[in-house]
Amino acid sequence: MSKIIFISNRLPVTALKDNGKIEYQKSIGGLVTGLKKYHEQADSVWVGWPGTADEEISPADKEAIQKKLIEYQCLPVFLTDQEINLYYNGFSNETIWPLFHYFTNMTTYNIETWAAYRQVNERFFQTVASVIEKGDIIWVHDYQLMLLPMMIKDQYPDTQVGFFLHIPFPSFEIFRLLIWRQEILQGLLGADLIGFHTFEYVRHFLSSIRHLLGLDTTMNRISYEDRYVQVDAFPMGIDYQFFAGEQQDDPLHGDARAIIEKARGMKIILSVDRLDYTKGIPERLKAFERFLAQYPEHHEKVRLNMIVAPSRVDVGMYDELRKEITELVSEINGKYGTFTWMPVWFFFRSFSQESLITLYRNSDVLLVTPLRDGMNLVCKEYIASRTDCQGMVVISETAGAASELGEAVIVNPNDSNAIARGLKMALDMPRDEVLARNKMMHRRLQRYNVGFWADEFLTALQRSVSESQQTIAQRSIENYHHIVEEAYRNSHKRVLFLDYDGTLVGFTPTPDRARPDDELKRLLKDLIDDPKNTVVLISGRERHNLEKWFPDLNLYMIASHGLWIRYPEQEWIMTVPLDSGWKEPIRHVMELYTDRIPGSLIEEKDYSLAWHYRQSDPDMMAVKLNEVRETLRSMIQDETLGLQEGKKVLEVKDSRVNKGFGASVLIQNQEYDFIFAGGDDYTDEDLFAALPAEAYSVKIGLGNTNAAYFLKSWQSMRQLLRKFADLSNLEK
Ligand code: UDP
Repeated sequence: MSKIIFISNRLPVTALKDNGKIEYQKSIGGLVTGLKKYHEQADSVWVGWPGTADEEISPADKEAIQKKLIEYQCLPVFLTDQEINLYYNGFSNETIWPLFHYFTNMTTYNIETWAAYRQVNERFFQTVASVIEKGDIIWVHDYQLMLLPMMIKDQYPDTQVGFFLHIPFPSFEIFRLLIWRQEILQGLLGADLIGFHTFEYVRHFLSSIRHLLGLDTTMNRISYEDRYVQVDAFPMGIDYQFFAGEQQDDPLHGDARAIIEKARGMKIILSVDRLDYTKGIPERLKAFERFLAQYPEHHEKVRLNMIVAPSRVDVGMYDELRKEITELVSEINGKYGTFTWMPVWFFFRSFSQESLITLYRNSDVLLVTPLRDGMNLVCKEYIASRTDCQGMVVISETAGAASELGEAVIVNPNDSNAIARGLKMALDMPRDEVLARNKMMHRRLQRYNVGFWADEFLTALQRSVSESQQTIAQRSIENYHHIVEEAYRNSHKRVLFLDYDGTLVGFTPTPDRARPDDELKRLLKDLIDDPKNTVVLISGRERHNLEKWFPDLNLYMIASHGLWIRYPEQEWIMTVPLDSGWKEPIRHVMELYTDRIPGSLIEEKDYSLAWHYRQSDPDMMAVKLNEVRETLRSMIQDETLGLQEGKKVLEVKDSRVNKGFGASVLIQNQEYDFIFAGGDDYTDEDLFAALPAEAYSVKIGLGNTNAAYFLKSWQSMRQLLRKFADLSNLEK
């Protein structure tokens, strides 16, 4: 039975040392509630930091904490003050948090904090590795751990890895500013399922994947090496039952009650946030002032109860924000207040969620206008608490929740006039309209509660893993190795067609660096030494290049994608008489597009003209590609010409020249009883298609192909060929 492992920066239990004694406090956030059902399963475990730095506890304390946390099904990752400072306060909260919330001018780029981020992700990995078993379901949470999915997948490919980002994913134009953007994307791609709050974030993420890694995405699926990565939106809900449930009149909510009592006869506007610059608190106060200036009829009749829960108070910037808020509050109260009326009541402290419910239920309008917010749960909690379906939410369009709460009053958080108008509209909205709007939102929140959110994510994770495993298992030659090896052993006359770049060696920055290493030469020699084998190197490279690299091997060679063939120790033969007369008009069209589409370029070969667009903007190409393709196609009248489409390339070529043709020349009139072909790109597709059905054709990587099977990488191709060579050696 597989178990579920949750990983987040903080554990759901905090271990605190107080007066020499360690105290344990359970946290009660939405996430913990949502995952409770799964975390309560017998062998489930939650991995994270217990909230106390190493410096505050002794080694004996650590041991005690570790032991005690087993009761809570938690496994601690211990961190030093320095690590927390660099990884959490530093990279997570001074680089990722501001950048992902579009605060580019507050984003710092610091090599030291980045190194700590990597190191701490590695530490999390080591801790979780101690409990991972094959088949486990591992759900990694949030922006502090974006490198962790790949660390897990690399070492434990047989696990199901999910990742959920609780903050926004910014548009590509913002994300590209990050120095370590590639590493972050690669880290995330270790997950089988990546979840975001909204479809916008999904779209932004996929756009970054296309622009920065050049990977193809179909619908919400990314083909990455030998896996599929699914990306989807899972808007996080709240614990609906808790907020909509009966609340006892608990004396603990006394202060909340007192706050309400003091405002008798007035309309109450409530705002609740953590102290953060993303929440738009000063902007909100300015908009409230605008409201007071524009609608004097509301003076003495409304009050803004502004709750700001202290957060990250040890960071200087946050203290300045607190001061700015306090000053604005005084200014407004000074300007508009009277002996009997103070327009803004400011509370710089946190309230229990029970108290918040009391406040929610007694407030006429909830005003939440973050400049950016991944989701914003406060507005959902407010709606759920108001079981009478009264009260209206004014929310900014830049909060993730806005996309689910279309019936609320939605405003631009930078536009004080719009907020003032929105506030007025919410206060004056007729009861029936309020009721109708809230009912719809209620129903949605009831259904999409946090438990549903967790169920949806985990079901989608299992589905995406099993779907891709099925597709992959059907096609991976590694699952058929007994059959292939058996066929190899029982055959007497074999031919092996091997593409070079990407199939026998990896890609290098320049083509001339991809020269064969000793291991490859030995491998080819061992295969060639078996008299039953015909080994054919089949490449797009020039004849002289192949000759130079393999001067003394008895290889068959097919160069320039099939234009040239050479039998061992013989001269090169041209397979097709060439005519280049067709090139001029095609070149002319390609040049027109090259001028108009930055990053594109033309490559000329003896028998073809290729138009490459790897460096061009993927979004522009999504619009333009069809036009280029159709224009080129309309120009190909001669049946000896064809348009071939590869990875970011359109190639018009003499269709008689292709690897398939080259291979057919070699196999015709020969009675091979074992045909093998390995390739990795679109030029190999002709080869795969030309071979008889019983051939073992293998493509490196996933994707649409004529090949019967696939393999993960060129390294695994070498392993397979090594097995063949060993079988040949055994026969000797
Ligand atoms: N909250 C609380 N006490 C407070 C203020 C806020 O318990 O005094 C809770 C609130 O109920 C909500 C969470 O903190 O569940 C804030 O979540 P949200 O998504 O709105 O913002 P975040 O702080 O995650 O950016």
